[in-house]
Amino acid sequence: MNNTWKTSKQSTFSFLLKLVAMLSLVMMLGACGNSASTSKTDDTKQTTEKAENMDSEGKLKVVVTNSILADITKNIAGDLIDLHSIVPIGQDPHEYEPLPEDVQKTTRADLIIYNGINLETGGNAWFTKLVKNANKEENKDYFAASDGVEIIHLEGKGEEGKEDPHAWLNLENGIIYAQNIAKQLIAKDPENKDAYEKNLKAYTEKLDELDKEAKEKFNNIPDSKKLIVTSEGCFKYFSKAYGVPSAYIWEINTEEEGTPDQIKDLVRKLRESEVPALFVESSVDDRPMKTVSKDAGVPIFAKIFTDSVANPGEEGDSYYAMMKWNLDKISEGLAQ
Ligand SMILES: [Zn+2]
Repeated sequence: MNNTWKTSKQSTFSFLLKLVAMLSLVMMLGACGNSASTSKTDDTKQTTEKAENMDSEGKLKVVVTNSILADITKNIAGDLIDLHSIVPIGQDPHEYEPLPEDVQKTTRADLIIYNGINLETGGNAWFTKLVKNANKEENKDYFAASDGVEIIHLEGKGEEGKEDPHAWLNLENGIIYAQNIAKQLIAKDPENKDAYEKNLKAYTEKLDELDKEAKEKFNNIPDSKKLIVTSEGCFKYFSKAYGVPSAYIWEINTEEEGTPDQIKDLVRKLRESEVPALFVESSVDDRPMKTVSKDAGVPIFAKIFTDSVANPGEEGDSYYAMMKWNLDKISEGLAQ
């Protein structure tokens, strides 16, 4: 009797144990399949995410590929949009590996703006892969800010016929970028048309004023000293617009950067010139330029901003500010 009771109690107990185990398993599986688990930290995270979604509710979701495009877009849209910029400040926008967050935001975006003309689509073509994975269509979901600029082509071996992407370094092109971005914002978000147009007008007037200043800036520098020397050959558009020729170690960041031959060629050119100053970009490795400086006996005068704006709060932290900084530093350096 006692034994039977014991056995039946034991089997009830083992049944309960199994039940608890099964229930735990079901709960665990549920938690795995659903990111909304019940732990305290996750509760907090969930609330934050919810608040973020609510905050951005109704706002146009815009993704841009780099910090320069982000700044131009901010000048036109302010906080009317929910903006995500892909390549971090100070990094090279030519070759990049998008993070999971970039893929997610690109997939959800209402509007995507990229530079085009062989920037994000050159080299490892990271942008081409990104929009393909996100199922986005050209001129429906994503647009080139450079649309309509007068394109300059690369000149180096193996690069012939390829587009030079650095069109924004001519302020007149920066104005075209701003107009293109405003046009797409208005098309996707016509309710805020008036605000976008008003901001565009004020912003392009400011850029236009700086452009006029830039066209006078180098008039007093003798031709023998008039040469902008940078690591990447990114100044072709700038050179053409403001009448200052440029030279470089390598032509574009997607080729080998700073080979002994590239350095030797530039050092030879510098020894034949009276160029008093070299420049190095914020978004490249500065070691090859340091070697050039040492071998040619010409000092590096300043860091300049070509493919990225500066960190927030530092000099050059917007498209306008970086152009102004570059104009001031280059004219100051070459006037020595
Ligand atoms: Zn570049």
